[in-house]
Amino acid sequence: MNHDVIVVGAGPAGSATAYHLARAGVRTLLLDKQAFPRDKVCGDCLSPRAQRYLARLGLLDAVTAEAHIATRIRFRAPGGAEAGTDIQGDDDLPDQTLVLPRARFDHLVQRRALDAGAAFRVGHVRELLPQGGVRVDGESLPARLVVIATGAALSLLKRTPLAPRRPVHSVAARCYLRRRGSPDAADWGPDLRFFFDHLPLPGYAWLFPTGPGSANLGYWYNGNANLSASAELPRLLAEHPELSRLIAGAEPPSKVTGFPIRTDFLTAPKVARGVLAVGEAAGLVNPFTGEGIDYALESAELAAEAITRALASAVAPDVLSRRCLAGYPRALDQRFRALFLLMAAAQRYAFNPWVFDRLFGRGPAGQGLVDTLIQVCFGAAPPGRVLAPLELGRLLMSRPEFPRGSA
Ligand SMILES: Cc1cc2nc3c(=O)[nH]c(=O)nc-3n(C[C@H](O)[C@H](O)[C@H](O)COP(=O)(O)OP(=O)(O)OC[C@H]3O[C@@H](n4cnc5c(N)ncnc54)[C@H](O)[C@@H]3O)c2cc1C
Repeated sequence: MNHDVIVVGAGPAGSATAYHLARAGVRTLLLDKQAFPRDKVCGDCLSPRAQRYLARLGLLDAVTAEAHIATRIRFRAPGGAEAGTDIQGDDDLPDQTLVLPRARFDHLVQRRALDAGAAFRVGHVRELLPQGGVRVDGESLPARLVVIATGAALSLLKRTPLAPRRPVHSVAARCYLRRRGSPDAADWGPDLRFFFDHLPLPGYAWLFPTGPGSANLGYWYNGNANLSASAELPRLLAEHPELSRLIAGAEPPSKVTGFPIRTDFLTAPKVARGVLAVGEAAGLVNPFTGEGIDYALESAELAAEAITRALASAVAPDVLSRRCLAGYPRALDQRFRALFLLMAAAQRYAFNPWVFDRLFGRGPAGQGLVDTLIQVCFGAAPPGRVLAPLELGRLLMSRPEFPRGSA
């Protein structure tokens, strides 16, 4: 056995797990079906929470140096009202978000894992070995544990005891925009922008600047209708009053590419004998915001801690049992359960025009609640704060103000 642990998938979850394991002296092989650098369909936004965990990978400065930095988020409600919030951090939570295309970001994280001592190999894993390890390209690679970090893709997961009981998949699509002419000619401003108007809810469109004169523009639909985000996005670019205005003067957008998003952390299995899931393979994407890079990095750290402990306590070369990995799902629950319960409830009950018009349409009177909601989403405030009865009472009793001529 050349490796104690094989990590399948070199997105942020897999590469960060491999980094932490290699740093702890665990012989780790990282596998991905694609050679790096490779693209990943995403909004490319790194929340303050993601940055906290990038700092712990020793990567925050390198990522910040290449990323677009945004300190403010702007929202447009279904009725046309606009609101904004400054991103607030705390001691180790930056008060800004970063935007860096995934082709570059994922390569930086993957390289960090290799620098820490993990080995890397390109290979499409289609099956696990019953005695522990994986089979790839006809070759058996034994290991005491396989970490599944394959994101929203279910084909491998379905062949393991971690197959989700009730997978919850939504759909999102994005394209890149570039200003016509000189890069300095004009841009879309530095802020992250979210649009909840003139589109099917629950969901939103976003415009995230990636640099001067370039942006990532996308649409996430998180409802039950049979709707294709890849088909909806071109319609929005052509017909949405604000998006069509913003992209006038841009080069024709790049190809629209869609990808699923999996948000079923609350019911997803996380460990079984010889296998453990991290990141989106454990359903760890926020069901209200659609973000998953932060939880991918965070779950990687929790997983590596639990795996290192389990390797030290179990008899080598036995495959790690479910019992000796049990600390990992417990740690995930402690860290994320309350947040995901709140966010799942918000997705189900609050993702509608009535709420958004009141939330974003109250001007200064509603600013406190908007600020708190974003702090909770980014991990700068505990989930319970958003349920403060006084704030919610004010929200329910308020009348939204619509800008003249909107909606
Ligand atoms: C359109 C869109 C926009 C999004 N925007 C944001 C955003 O702005 N911010 C944010 O935080 N999150 C966003 N997300 C969510 C985010 O992209 C994911 O949650 C995140 O990538 C999860 O990381 P991961 O490492 O778990 O999986 P992934 O990043 O999906 O990585 C999985 C890796 O596994 C590899 N793989 C898969 N199957 C196999 C196999 N069988 N064998 C070998 N390799 C395999 C893949 O090639 C891939 O490299 C968005 C998602 C979408 C679809």
